[in-house]
Amino acid sequence: MELSPPSNKINLLGLNREAMQTFFVELGEKPYRAEQVLKWIHFEGKNNIADMTNVSKVLRHKLSDIAEIRPPQIAYEHTAPDDTHKWIIRLNDGNCIETVFIPEKNRGTLCVSSQVGCILNCDFCSTGKQGFSRNLTTDEIIGQVWLAARSLSQKNGVHDNAVTNVVMMGMGEPLLNFDPVVSAMNIMLDDLGYGLSKRRVTLSTAGIVPALYRLREVSDVALAVSLHAPNDELRNILVPVNKKYPLKELMQACKDYFEQQPRRYVTMEYVMLDGINDTPDHAKQLIKLLNNVKAKVNLIPFNPFPHTPYQRSTPEAIQLFQSLLLKAKINCIIRKTRGTEIDAACGQLVGSVKDRTKRSQRIRLQQIQQEKNP
Ligand code: SAH
Repeated sequence: MELSPPSNKINLLGLNREAMQTFFVELGEKPYRAEQVLKWIHFEGKNNIADMTNVSKVLRHKLSDIAEIRPPQIAYEHTAPDDTHKWIIRLNDGNCIETVFIPEKNRGTLCVSSQVGCILNCDFCSTGKQGFSRNLTTDEIIGQVWLAARSLSQKNGVHDNAVTNVVMMGMGEPLLNFDPVVSAMNIMLDDLGYGLSKRRVTLSTAGIVPALYRLREVSDVALAVSLHAPNDELRNILVPVNKKYPLKELMQACKDYFEQQPRRYVTMEYVMLDGINDTPDHAKQLIKLLNNVKAKVNLIPFNPFPHTPYQRSTPEAIQLFQSLLLKAKINCIIRKTRGTEIDAACGQLVGSVKDRTKRSQRIRLQQIQQEKNP
């Protein structure tokens, strides 16, 4: 596939309502033009300025000279037997990211990426092993929702579930790309954008504590935290950013996040790794840790990927773990694994990252050495 030629025109796809209003005012136009254009792009799924029939012809011409709607391109797409759908999206610089749609009976969840690769290097996540290339821009983040919504509506019948929920759980750490992520989430929440409620847009983080406090000031989306371990010693290994923001600080930030909204809960994600974090003793530690934190726990059976030393916990271990939490009155569900056949499950998203950290190279060298001297 050819890369699109570079363009100097402003990409209207990446402007939320506020930015769009500023854009029109600076152009000497009325701010309400922003609402019209926002609706055409996101609500109607249009990428052609000429189609915006309630905008005067003169203004459409003026706009076309300086602006365009430039979505990223779909490089490949795959559908799993369970109807989970994955798009591999090629960005203008040749990097690839992945977006996944998970249809369920009464909802359709889109899993959106925030960065090309990830810098955090969590030990059980294949995205981390790819290294990191760069942050996504607002148009590249919202462009994933735009592409998915459009492609699902065109497929009509195959997937009649449109996007009802968005989770920022694709590649990358959303809180390390703060402004573009918040701006894209604003378009998801906007009635003229995708009109999703604050409970249906979830940001998932490995626990960047200062950014959690910042987020609380500017947004009220749902929050998921990738916890994965009940003590600092183990979490330092599994989620190395814990060394910077240890559990005590993270739990305080979680308590504070919904302080003003007492009926909302933080979702704690906990990947189940055989013999590593899944024993009854870990469950007890977790119960103690979550004492006083309004949380629900999502147990995620580990999804293996090549060369990982970890294995998925047994179904018996997962069930026992869940029952201990439930007994302690902690809301806890076991997440159903979806899309494994097409590598679309949690932690399997790798895209194609021009790794600037050289991490993938170092890991490959270690593997070669191990293969030579087992
Ligand atoms: N960086 C953010 C967003 C990624 S979300 C975060 O850490 O929350 C992806 C979710 O899938 C996280 O909870 C992550 O910890 C989990 N995950 C990663 N690798 C996994 C794997 N191999 N199996 C199951 N879950 C995994």
